[in-house]
Amino acid sequence: MTSVRDELAFLRDMGFTHLDLEAAEARGPRPEASDDWTHLRDIALACTQCRLAKTRTQVVYGVGNPHADLMFIGEAPGRDEDIKGEPFVGRAGQLLTDIIKAMKLTRDDVYIANVIKCRPPENRNPEPDELDACRPFIKRQIELIQPKVIVTLGKFALQSLTGRAYAISAARGQWTEYDGIKVMPTYHPAYLLRTPSAKKEVWQDMKKVMGELGITF
Ligand code: URA
Repeated sequence: MTSVRDELAFLRDMGFTHLDLEAAEARGPRPEASDDWTHLRDIALACTQCRLAKTRTQVVYGVGNPHADLMFIGEAPGRDEDIKGEPFVGRAGQLLTDIIKAMKLTRDDVYIANVIKCRPPENRNPEPDELDACRPFIKRQIELIQPKVIVTLGKFALQSLTGRAYAISAARGQWTEYDGIKVMPTYHPAYLLRTPSAKKEVWQDMKKVMGELGITF
């Protein structure tokens, strides 16, 4: 007879990272591959798939051009974003807006979203099961937008998309790929607020992105 321990070891080896003990039907619909933009947004705004639904003020779905060539993907909403319902509107968001302007673009030219749509309490790191629950939204957003380039901001965005644990200092500036789309990992703007000397590395990364998109600098 298989012991509980053997069973759990098997599940771990299969890649499971947590046990989901809540009834799936109690949490409402999940995004489907066939959902269009409007339906996907409606599902996201009503989502109760994880515990963050209990503490959020607003779901922060994403903002910008749904036909953008360039998509920025961050981690999770903070306090300002939770109140406003829009990603990257606080201090880190102002810095991201400045980076976008330096690339000769506006926030309306690009699409900005997070891998987690609801604010983790006290801005703590997202839990693995929260990333798992929210991943279908960002995946479907990418499928619908079909950007030419994705810039991931910080380690959680990169890890959640690629499923691999990277050190962001090693991964940044190196092209990688998600579902046939070029991905440029770079530092999170919140890190740049703490470490302004890293801005020059982010600018190097953004110049690669501009080159890929044919924007002259
Ligand atoms: N940090 C993020 O990763 N996303 C936001 O929307 C704001 C801050």
